[in-house]
Amino acid sequence: MSDPDLPFRSNAHPFETHLDGESRKAFAEALDRGSSDWIPVFFQQEDQKIPMLLRAKENRAAGSLLLTLADPFLLVRNIEVQDEECDYLRMIHTLYDDTWWSWDPGAESFRVDAAASSHLPSGFYPEAEMKALVSSHLPQEEGEKLLSFFRGLSKTPAADEIRFQDTSGNRFLLSAVPGIGRSGTECLAGCLHRFRERGKEAPSGPGFALDPLTGVLTRTGIEQAACERIRSGIRITLIILDIDFFKTINDRYGHQKGDEVLRCTAECIRKAVGDTGQVGRLGGDEFLIVLDALSDEDGIRGVLRGVRNSVGARYPDTGMGGNPVVTVSMGGARFPDHAADFSSLFNLADACLYRAKEKGRNRYILYTPEKHGTPEAFIATVLRKQQNATDRPGTNPAEVLVSMAYEVRYGTKPELLPLLQRYVRAMGIPCAAILSGSPAAVVSQEGEGASLPAESLEEAVALLGPLLQEETKDPLVINRMDEGPSGRTLLALGFGSILLYRIGESTGAGAWLLFYTTGAFHQWNRLRFPAHRLFADLLSSYDLARE
Ligand code: GH3
Ligand code: MG
Repeated sequence: MSDPDLPFRSNAHPFETHLDGESRKAFAEALDRGSSDWIPVFFQQEDQKIPMLLRAKENRAAGSLLLTLADPFLLVRNIEVQDEECDYLRMIHTLYDDTWWSWDPGAESFRVDAAASSHLPSGFYPEAEMKALVSSHLPQEEGEKLLSFFRGLSKTPAADEIRFQDTSGNRFLLSAVPGIGRSGTECLAGCLHRFRERGKEAPSGPGFALDPLTGVLTRTGIEQAACERIRSGIRITLIILDIDFFKTINDRYGHQKGDEVLRCTAECIRKAVGDTGQVGRLGGDEFLIVLDALSDEDGIRGVLRGVRNSVGARYPDTGMGGNPVVTVSMGGARFPDHAADFSSLFNLADACLYRAKEKGRNRYILYTPEKHGTPEAFIATVLRKQQNATDRPGTNPAEVLVSMAYEVRYGTKPELLPLLQRYVRAMGIPCAAILSGSPAAVVSQEGEGASLPAESLEEAVALLGPLLQEETKDPLVINRMDEGPSGRTLLALGFGSILLYRIGESTGAGAWLLFYTTGAFHQWNRLRFPAHRLFADLLSSYDLARE
């Protein structure tokens, strides 16, 4: 197959195996003619044939062949469902080390699907960020050339290409082909190729410090951004954001879904922050936001509300259990008002984040000296709490539940109160009570939160108990009182949120497991509902009327 006069033919070989017979012939002919026109081909993926456009360009000096394969329609249509479907593109990336991009004006973002060694990591880049990248990594003239190339294409879409060079001397070829996007509008897709000098790995551009999974800045990148501003005396607000119950999302829906949640959350944060600041990923499910364009408290709170709402809207609580419900918690503090250097500022924001988690998650807390005391005292209190939490032995929720179930069913049945204590501590439930009889009376109460008097709990169960359908085992969930039934009465009784389970089959008087908080509101972790159900079932083996 290879021809010594046509070095590119041998380079093309591994690629050809992905084309179906007819296409392979058309491709070979185009290569022989030295044609660099787009040719229609069928790309073979298992038993599927995917129509695409293919173009081959020879670079005799480098003895290489540049292949561009594009199906804008497919590429763009796949934006939302990418991963599995784009495996074949990844395969090509690995072979050819190119970077794919697509741009849908409707979505207002560039999608980049990159080879492992690419200098530009995969992810979504909003237009503003792409522009910022271009201007910070290309000499001014080259940057303007590239932007005007895009402006031209967005007016008159056509297959075109452009060469440019970045500030580190890396040379690139960017090609574009028009297609139809998801929204039915014209979109563009193409390939970004970095030329390499023969036998020499081109230096990768500095500063493309983006997290490969989410496309936001890396930890180093965002910390640098914060430190630079602090050094220059620019007022900033530092926000640490952590996804709530992310481990359970991974556990229940798989790591891939977890990754998708990370990507989408990053995108929501980026959009909500817009040009008021920068976003980076610290690692795991933690992000850092540096707000530098806002210094008034209302404006800052507005952005944080935007982040919270945008994530919530992306993964709403449908009550169906089939989709992950995603919420985030944030803690923040301001420079220079609250701390004089990055690490003190970070510690303060982190303490606020801890407080937000403790207060029921799905919220943001900004450090407020009047409320939290001096930074030193506040951080010390939080550290002490964290220490206590990690020192507690045997609090792994799954382990605790399984061993309890075993003890109740087959072992020495523990007393009711210690059982409730263990469960509540392992699950981090602020307040819990078991009630039984008619009218319901409190049998046992436990929790570290501010508890309410027995009469209030009894009244709540009298109001809500009848709403729990006898045949369903689902709980009644009220995350905030203005959402639930009898909200005003319950609010007046001091409730902030409620999770109520019916215990047992409940013929006759009935029994209930009541979890509650007294704060403003509390996001109950849906992923733990099955565990609570199991716990309520365990309780049904106790004779609650007589306890
Ligand atoms: P909390 O509300 O207290 O934050 O609970 P959590 O379950 O979110 O706890 P935590 O923040 O400690 O969990 C972070 C988890 O993120 C732990 C780890 O399994 C998971 N993780 C870390 N990096 C990645 C990643 O790149 N992809 C995925 N899918 N999961 C990751
Ligand atoms: Mg988390």
